[in-house]
Amino acid sequence: MTYRRLFSLRQAVPQNAVPQSEPLPGQSPNNAGGHWYEVGDWGRLDRFLLLGSEGGTYYVGERALTRDNAMAVQRCLIEDGRRVVARTVEISQAGRAPRNDPALFVLAMAAAAEDEATRRAALSAIPLVARTGTHILAFADMVEGFRGWGRGLRRGVARWFTSQDSDRLALQAVKYMNRGGWALRDLLRLAHPLTDEAATRILFDWIAHPNQADAIGAARAAFPLVDGLYRIREASGPTEAAAIIRDRRLPREAVPTEKLTAPEVWESLLADMPLGALIRNLGKLSQVGLLNIGSEAAATVIRRLADGEALSRARIHPVQVLLALKTYAQGHGERGKLSWIPVPAVVDALDGAFDRAFATIEPTGKRLLVAVDVSGSMHGTRCAGSPTLSAMEAAAAMAMGFVRTERKVEVVAFDTELHSAPLTPRQRLDDVVRLFGRWRGGTDVALPMAYALGRKLEVDAIVVITDNETWAGRQHPIQALKRYRETVNPAAKAVVLAATANAGSVVPDDDPLSLGCAGFDAAVPQVVAGFLKG
Ligand code: CA
Repeated sequence: MTYRRLFSLRQAVPQNAVPQSEPLPGQSPNNAGGHWYEVGDWGRLDRFLLLGSEGGTYYVGERALTRDNAMAVQRCLIEDGRRVVARTVEISQAGRAPRNDPALFVLAMAAAAEDEATRRAALSAIPLVARTGTHILAFADMVEGFRGWGRGLRRGVARWFTSQDSDRLALQAVKYMNRGGWALRDLLRLAHPLTDEAATRILFDWIAHPNQADAIGAARAAFPLVDGLYRIREASGPTEAAAIIRDRRLPREAVPTEKLTAPEVWESLLADMPLGALIRNLGKLSQVGLLNIGSEAAATVIRRLADGEALSRARIHPVQVLLALKTYAQGHGERGKLSWIPVPAVVDALDGAFDRAFATIEPTGKRLLVAVDVSGSMHGTRCAGSPTLSAMEAAAAMAMGFVRTERKVEVVAFDTELHSAPLTPRQRLDDVVRLFGRWRGGTDVALPMAYALGRKLEVDAIVVITDNETWAGRQHPIQALKRYRETVNPAAKAVVLAATANAGSVVPDDDPLSLGCAGFDAAVPQVVAGFLKG
């Protein structure tokens, strides 16, 4: 299925082309022995917020990548700190990133900025970005690396405690008492939040003094959830545990590990399980014997995955769905300890859930060539820190997002060859990911442009999803693009969707017909559509 015979590279590369091993004016060396254009700091801020630096890239280690991104964030903070905070809140609240940690990290940096207005904006944005107990504990850990616990920070954290109603805070406390070296108790003692509400005060007292009988008694009396937390520890068997979970609506985090083996425990957890937890626990639900072909639990799961509104309310990211789909369909967990027999209808439902993330986008009707980088580096870069999902797989799924949004899309894959990948909207995501997994050569990002030129393919835009680390070509992508515009379509646009939070792009920032962007979510086709129409 390769296009090698359909067009010849020899024809497509002009005599005077500059090989990727040599720079064009304005380019600098990339990490792969080729050359690229450096991305501006604001572009890097976006890449970092959307993609994070967990796991580093194929070429740059996690620590160095995080340091480089932090330095770019620092420069943005000096230039316009409030813009940094606003962008962080925007991306975090829209659920555009598969992980919230980069947003928390940037907010922690902003909370320590020299400029007072920036600091104030960051501190008042704490409840907007740190929405859960686990977020605020992570934030506490990060912010300590940048500044001390002055009054402003303590007040900002106090607002986290006082800005939510007592039932929600009780749930956060029951789920996330500790994370890393931090406990909610430590934060509460530092921040000293004050409240007029009696119920909230009882909760504060319990969080601050979890070993005092009076505080425990009052919290148990006021909050069924807190009561359930203590009751389930003493439950004698799975039937009793299941009853307590159902009665007190306990989350999984409140259930002692040794009680998480019985199907009836999971059955009662399923009744109130948040969507994110549901998606993460499908394997476990199968393994304990609840999720079977035609079972009641399977019907519940399928129904909940079909609720597009609930998915977006819960900020379920397409990458989380993709990860769940890949893991669930393969029938075993990451470390191989857990194994199960996947239910095909559940796999289909996950595929549908991914689809629904893109369902609301208006098709542009433009003709698109979507090219996915399937070179070794894309396989070797983890997506959002997930040990089981590669940037290549997320990119393949993103191409599918375009196929399901737009009607005139041709998809190809490339490494140092161009590969045909004729996707249709009805293809299932795990099959698409498997198809793209077949290739992993060197990298020549000029190939999609050369292909469009060689075939005289009339397209309105070429969308390339890549880590931009191109090196193997006998011409630069921008040269091939220029020739395509001269020969076939002078108005052809180029979109380069960055798959990693590195520093460069194969298109320069100042080409009005090119767009650099990042992310693996439904906002990307929307941004692309806006660019193509405008
Ligand atoms: Ca590569």
